[in-house]
Amino acid sequence: MIPFVRDFDFAYGRCDQVSPLIRRVVANNPGPFTFTGTGTYIVGRDEPGAGVAVIDPGPLDDAHLGALLDAVKGQTVSHVLVTHTHRDHAPLARPFAEAVGAPIMAARPPLRTIHASATLDEEEDDAFLPDLVLKGGERLEGDGWTIEALCTPGHASNHMAFVLEDENALFCGDHVMGWSTTVIAPPDGDMADYMASLDAVIGRDFATLWPTHGAPITDAAPFLQAYRAHRLDREAQVLAQLRAGHARIADVVPVLYAAVDPRLWPAASLSVWAHLIALEKAGRVRATPAPAIDAQWTPV
Ligand SMILES: [Zn+2]
Repeated sequence: MIPFVRDFDFAYGRCDQVSPLIRRVVANNPGPFTFTGTGTYIVGRDEPGAGVAVIDPGPLDDAHLGALLDAVKGQTVSHVLVTHTHRDHAPLARPFAEAVGAPIMAARPPLRTIHASATLDEEEDDAFLPDLVLKGGERLEGDGWTIEALCTPGHASNHMAFVLEDENALFCGDHVMGWSTTVIAPPDGDMADYMASLDAVIGRDFATLWPTHGAPITDAAPFLQAYRAHRLDREAQVLAQLRAGHARIADVVPVLYAAVDPRLWPAASLSVWAHLIALEKAGRVRATPAPAIDAQWTPV
């Protein structure tokens, strides 16, 4: 069982000091994929004249823009960082960056556009372009803090997490969430990449994870192990369903997700599809006629 963290003390628009170097403002965009909304992080000391970075400005929302500008009043924003280009993370970056005169830094735009996600709140912000493209591995030096860019593809092909070296903490975007597993929606989402990114994060032994949605994960190692085990279990369950003669995703999902609100089954179908694509690439299942969402799948 994943030790989910669902208690979350927040109020929309309020700026909370959540660690010595981190403040958070939550946008009012709750939903089945955003939990209580997008949490925008401000990194740096809360002092007049201090230099700060802002991570994931969030959705286009005037009230949230106002709350962010209030929160950084009298300070200098040196970096606007974006974990990935989904609409609950990226669109406010440009108006915020223009208001404070800071450059936007993020990974390149995604290679694959999302089509399958009409059912998700996770559509692509097609207009998003960073001022500076991060490749991963860069160390961004700020005013009393250092942030490392860490590539974590999987949830999105261009997902990037940000390491706050001073607190051995990771701003993990939607790569890991405390309240839920993350949606891997093909074609842009990729389960094999996701598992590799999860292993990379596990290998770094961070003290705290700060997801964009919800509360921090303060006991990171056991949480991540459970999170990883859950995916491997799910993969084994999908294979077992195929062996039991359920050849289509539409047959597998009602069995595996019987306990889940059927409104989330479209998203669950995408996750099962992501598992099957990874299994197909690994030569463990075959797709007829092609690895599409409505294919017939057989174990090899
Ligand atoms: Zn999100």
